[in-house]
Amino acid sequence: MTYAVKTSVRPLVEYVFRSGSLESGMRFGNALQEGTRIHREVQEKYGENDRKEVFLKTELSCAAGELLIQVEGRSDGVLLGEDGGYTIDEIKSTSETPEQIEGGHDVHWAQAKFYAYMLALETGLQKVGVRLTYVHKPGGERSVRETSQTLDELTAFVQDVAERYAPFALLLKKREEKRNAAASALGFPFGHYREGQRLFAGAVFKTVREEKNLLARAPTGTGKTISTLFPAVKAIGEGLIGRIYYLTAKTTTRAGAEEALNLLEKNGAYLSSVTITAKDKVCFKEEEDCAGGQCRFAVGYYDRINDALQDLFEHETRVTREVLEHYARKHTVCPFEFSLDAAYAADVVVCDYNYVFDPRISFKRLSDEQRGKSALLIDEAHNLVERGREMFSAELLKSAFLEIKRGYKGIHEGVRGAAERVNAYLILLRKQAGEEGRFVGNEPPEVMFKLLEPFVDQAEHALVTVHGSESEEELLEAYFAAQTFLRIGRLYGDQYVTYVETDGSEVKMKMFCLDPSELLLQASKNYRSAVYFSATLAPLGFYREMLGASEEDYTLSIPSPFSPEQLEVTVLPYSTRFRDRERTKDSLAAALAETVNKRPGNYLFFFPSYAYLQEIRQAFEARIDREQVEIIGQDSGMSEGDRTGFLDAFSAGREKTLVGFAVMGGVFSEGIDLAGDRLTGVAVIGVGLPQIGLERDIIRDYYNERGRSGFNYAYVYPGMNKVQQAGGRLIRTEEDRGVLILADDRFLQEPYRSLLPDEWGTR
Ligand code: SF4
Repeated sequence: MTYAVKTSVRPLVEYVFRSGSLESGMRFGNALQEGTRIHREVQEKYGENDRKEVFLKTELSCAAGELLIQVEGRSDGVLLGEDGGYTIDEIKSTSETPEQIEGGHDVHWAQAKFYAYMLALETGLQKVGVRLTYVHKPGGERSVRETSQTLDELTAFVQDVAERYAPFALLLKKREEKRNAAASALGFPFGHYREGQRLFAGAVFKTVREEKNLLARAPTGTGKTISTLFPAVKAIGEGLIGRIYYLTAKTTTRAGAEEALNLLEKNGAYLSSVTITAKDKVCFKEEEDCAGGQCRFAVGYYDRINDALQDLFEHETRVTREVLEHYARKHTVCPFEFSLDAAYAADVVVCDYNYVFDPRISFKRLSDEQRGKSALLIDEAHNLVERGREMFSAELLKSAFLEIKRGYKGIHEGVRGAAERVNAYLILLRKQAGEEGRFVGNEPPEVMFKLLEPFVDQAEHALVTVHGSESEEELLEAYFAAQTFLRIGRLYGDQYVTYVETDGSEVKMKMFCLDPSELLLQASKNYRSAVYFSATLAPLGFYREMLGASEEDYTLSIPSPFSPEQLEVTVLPYSTRFRDRERTKDSLAAALAETVNKRPGNYLFFFPSYAYLQEIRQAFEARIDREQVEIIGQDSGMSEGDRTGFLDAFSAGREKTLVGFAVMGGVFSEGIDLAGDRLTGVAVIGVGLPQIGLERDIIRDYYNERGRSGFNYAYVYPGMNKVQQAGGRLIRTEEDRGVLILADDRFLQEPYRSLLPDEWGTR
């Protein structure tokens, strides 16, 4: 049997020829735009008979005929020589000096020779010239390396590349075949569907089949993880897609996806999944970071990565953080970069939203064809609005450039001067901000872009050529910040403002994305389908608009599977507005204490801020018997262990009553399951409005100008979402019973009242 795989020249030769180390985490550093500009500049100097961006393709049989590789790609240039012969030109921009490059990098030669081979086949030539044109940044000097190859030499070369690529390609191809057959035969793992599940799962499958998007409000109890993953796996079995991205905002939800995948596997699915954990969490080094370039997991990373991947996919299906760490240690490769490399070969990728939506770190090596064969399952999608604003915004701090100006004096004048100019401009802006300390504008910060472009070039040069500076880490950070600023600047449109804010000698300049909808849509549009789901995607119209849904996209609202008798809701009509808190504090604490005294059990109380939490906690403690009631509290600096300890305290059948004080919108108010007797009651204090501030007010004004209720968009909807999430911790299964206290008089008023879920019975 012959397996066929399709690939482009670049990933093929990169797989075979990648070698050396991860450079200070600069893997994401090469600005695509910059590369394109430099390519164009070289190509513009071509002669009239030379051709640029020439499409070439071929097929290579290897592994004793078991594999057929269909390769294609675009050569930068095909140059016609005076003797009538052709030369392939491969253009590369680099921060390395000509001396550092010496004879040229193997991977670049490999790319050029591959094109030369395909050109020789197409033209019937027996000999082709091969040239590497390096453009050296920051100055733009060029250096050229040139050779010529016979067809026989080129044939031997590409055949060798194909043979070296074959084992991994065959491994993945055979797995894919097994995966598709298993997915086709897979049945729903619970035998029967719960209420709402069939509806939801059916809608997800239809959405993927029809290449649409879906926004679904799926209340707790719908089993939303399995209701989305199962139909997506079935879509793999039907050949509609080849990969699923399960995207989450929080680590806790990722564990739910892993459990669902385990369940599918137990029921016969055969899938490789990779969970990506944030770099700072998964990094093996405890004190240092990548900047020093000394990490042994980074040094020689590319020399070992292929063996690590082969080993991983030969032996594992569920690549959780633990599995990944095991193989990363075994092969001495950076666990974070390894997870990214593994994700390109997995059937299911469980990761944060960033890896798809954030222009800084999204999966850059995915081709549009691969995206078109993938589905996005976006869990807790209500979070994507705020996360979108963060991902599409960028800021700079004056202090970062001042540090570099000082740290690189006498070490690298280019970067020192560029940092000085940015610093000086921010000083000018500080003066403009005057006594008020801020100003807001609608224009992109063009002057800053002009200052940052040379800074990025100089910084890249300094990072590659100068080592051992005390400020190297700061330079790397400022380099990334500047890169991000320029990259986000290219997205700038009507949905942005630029503001400057001062704080003492510090100056912050921020491009703030107010409406992320269009950019979210841009980032997801090349994927076959996106399914946005959450228990609190309400009001649905608001989320449709904010997530960039179009007229053709489907929406679905699934009723709660729980009965109203499971929940006893009480509204305590006290004002929790800032100005009234002192006045209502004692009555509120007394009412909460009375509830707890009357009905022993485990309680979670949610507050809009830590300060208010402390105030009520003190008043509450004075009203309860500490022999009978244990109190624990969330604080802002909790480690992962502290968080687990907090949740573990909520055990069923405790002797004493337990009250956990927590904040709304924090780690305990979303994505946690305290089923059964682990939770008796929840109190939500306040309507969750975000703190009034500059950014919120800008958002409010922006939507007011567009005929919406700006206050609702900026404050009420995000706040009430937190209320719904916090209250939603209480009833997790059909057996749960509990008390829900809503403490604020606004819960009885519009628009707040209408924004409470139907199943709370408060309307
Ligand atoms: S293990 Fe940590 S320090 Fe080493 S390369 Fe990876 S992220 Fe950087």
